[in-house]
Amino acid sequence: MILLTRKAEFSASHYYWNDAWTAVENQRTFGKCANRNGHGHNYTLEVTVAGEVNPVTGFVVDLKQLKDTMEREVIAVYDHRHLNLEVPEFQSAIPTTENIAVAIWRRLEGKVPGARLHRVRVYEMPDLFADYYGEN
Ligand SMILES: [Zn+2]
Repeated sequence: MILLTRKAEFSASHYYWNDAWTAVENQRTFGKCANRNGHGHNYTLEVTVAGEVNPVTGFVVDLKQLKDTMEREVIAVYDHRHLNLEVPEFQSAIPTTENIAVAIWRRLEGKVPGARLHRVRVYEMPDLFADYYGEN
């Protein structure tokens, strides 16, 4: 088995807010991130797939297909969007780096032909990232 990783970038806005809490509780927990006008990040996404090297092509997966899948399923939906307001999964989940990684996994799972999704890594900034390996 070999692991192959492809990177992509997207820019998006978000804020942190739990509707079950008061404004004071949200401010206390999330600080500046609770500002309802939101703020932006340049995210870096790394998608790692696992599989066997095809002896004919030398590939684990068709890189163009992997890139196209990431573009279609994630970048087209997240890039230059306000995650809280425009992306369905963040109507019910706070768009933290952790939740974004899980959401991207769910968007990609089963959609990469010929390989198994191994890891989704999302960088919110160069010194902060979350890894998700699925439920199992
Ligand atoms: Zn933020």
